[in-house]
Amino acid sequence: MFNKVLIANRGEIAVRVIRACRELGVRTVAVFSEADRGALHAQIADEAICIGPASSKDSYLNVKSILAACEVTGAEAIHPGFGFLSENATFARMCKRCGVAFIGPDPSSIDLMGDKAQAKETMKSAGVPVVPGSDGLVNTMDEAKAVAAVIGYPVMVKASAGGGGRGIRLVEKEEDLESAVTAAKQEALSCFGDDGVYVEKFIKNPRHIEIQLLADQFGNVIHLGERDCSLQRRNQKMLEETPSPFMNPALRERMGEAAKKAAVACGYYNAGTVEFLVDDQENFYFMEMNTRIQVEHPITELVTGVDLVKQQLLVAAGEKLSLTQDQIKLTGHAIECRINAENPKLNFRPSPGKIQGLHMPGGPGVRVDSAVYQGYEIPPYYDSMIAKLIVYAPTRPEAIMKMKWALAEFLVDGVDTNIDYQLNLVKNEDFESGNYDIGFLGRHNFA
Ligand code: ADP
Ligand code: ADP
Ligand code: MG
Repeated sequence: MFNKVLIANRGEIAVRVIRACRELGVRTVAVFSEADRGALHAQIADEAICIGPASSKDSYLNVKSILAACEVTGAEAIHPGFGFLSENATFARMCKRCGVAFIGPDPSSIDLMGDKAQAKETMKSAGVPVVPGSDGLVNTMDEAKAVAAVIGYPVMVKASAGGGGRGIRLVEKEEDLESAVTAAKQEALSCFGDDGVYVEKFIKNPRHIEIQLLADQFGNVIHLGERDCSLQRRNQKMLEETPSPFMNPALRERMGEAAKKAAVACGYYNAGTVEFLVDDQENFYFMEMNTRIQVEHPITELVTGVDLVKQQLLVAAGEKLSLTQDQIKLTGHAIECRINAENPKLNFRPSPGKIQGLHMPGGPGVRVDSAVYQGYEIPPYYDSMIAKLIVYAPTRPEAIMKMKWALAEFLVDGVDTNIDYQLNLVKNEDFESGNYDIGFLGRHNFA
């Protein structure tokens, strides 16, 4: 195992990684921006180094500063968390060249899966079902029109370099295609520095169900069941649960095997997630693979008893997976609500500022992954997610009951949050009966 690991991230995920390191006896180095001097991750790590000004591009995306911090502190490995540099193959390659282990897959896997159009082609060849659409990128408007005409409207225009729900446009009819392609390209260019887009069929009212994988450097791959992430606002996840209310053992087996094929096709190791759209006939389509730890990983940890972040560290250190597929047993039910500093009544406007009062819920089966504390000033520069409230109970109704009370107990003074929004969501009858799809939040006003 490594002696010292640098965490190239901030917020709750940096704290989560520091905790996993400690349990493995690994020393930790936090990096922080000038706006994050008071941040929790910088305070609880063994060492902390300032890597630049507030703006992400000057700090958490500043490769030179981060590698210099590694050099200065003697860290042997970098955990990238999610977002920021976590899916940046160039960064992963630079780590390697500097003799630092990247706690993630081989850069070639990131390249392959990061180009979503190319990833779909690879999956098709590997026999994994994909959403019907263009063969790779669409290079001209005529090509886009021709593809859309063949697959039929509505279609989705999607950024090949996309992530986090950005660079995606729904197009209902041909007249709107041109402006959608232009808009998706613009957004993709500004978010990802790459304006490649592809076109695929819009699947009506599907569920977003993803499979968690773990793979080592010796070709062993296991899956740890699914997460239902259909509850999304503008393609961004709000609440996740496992098992999916829609799932059955036969479908889980089929999707788990397809996800493993995806991993094998790109020579994958590390924790990873294969995202699928699933229609009401139980047809499923590969959408993308996230080559990193995901925000919603804790719900899988609760139902499997596997610490995914520790597993990432072990795999990166060159250990063989100690778990086999038949040792993975899914028990109970887990739900995660993302708690964001934002105002749902004002179109989810971010609400940075000082946390004057804070009470987080607790008790059996309640986990809060967070990096905020009373008196903490949420900076305006980063993601608005301030905590993840995760509950675990033997059955889904019990987990929902627990989530209701945990949300009701969660108090944040000083900034606006989406806690009441989440409470309205979990009290909804259709949610309670598991009757929802990716359009659900768009059809309801829980604000
Ligand atoms: P998905 O990409 O499938 O929506 P996640 O919900 O795990 O997966 O993450 C959404 C995306 O938003 C991530 O790819 C990440 O880049 C970004 N992101 C989410 N939360 C944060 C955060 N707290 N800090 C930085 N980036 C984040
Ligand atoms: P990102 O990389 O931004 O996470 P995804 O490809 O995972 O992008 O898509 C984000 C979300 O957009 C999905 O979870 C789903 O809700 C919706 N979506 C994507 N593609 C389609 C499609 N072809 N049909 C219907 N909904 C889609
Ligand atoms: Mg996605």
